[in-house]
Amino acid sequence: MIPSTEIQVGTREAAQVLGVSRRTVQRRAKAGTIPAAKDERGHYVITLTIPAKYTDAQIAKAMELIEQDGIQATDLPGIYVSIGSDGDTMYPTTLHTCGCKAGQNGRNCYHRLAAAILTSIRQLTAATPLRSAA
Ligand SMILES: [Zn+2]
Repeated sequence: MIPSTEIQVGTREAAQVLGVSRRTVQRRAKAGTIPAAKDERGHYVITLTIPAKYTDAQIAKAMELIEQDGIQATDLPGIYVSIGSDGDTMYPTTLHTCGCKAGQNGRNCYHRLAAAILTSIRQLTAATPLRSAA
């Protein structure tokens, strides 16, 4: 069995990644063009399945990196730039490699997880782009 990690993201994070308003994501979730389910508080939650094993601590750090815009897409598909924990060092990051110390040692670092989350969220809306009908 391939190890995987399920990650739940809210409409706020999804909106940030997609560059649209939170309202737009909520509307699309309601319409069913973004696969989302309501949690016990009635908030939409999008579940992503990342094809690798990560710890809860790594998930928290990856989400924090995304919220702080610490990972950015480049013009090259699948290639991101992550900012290191010192706030200064930049690492090239893809789904499978990362320039940080852990990544160079072949470990699953949270930068790669953040890249996988960004890629997954974008893929959710690839079939129905958000901007055109918003
Ligand atoms: Zn890394």
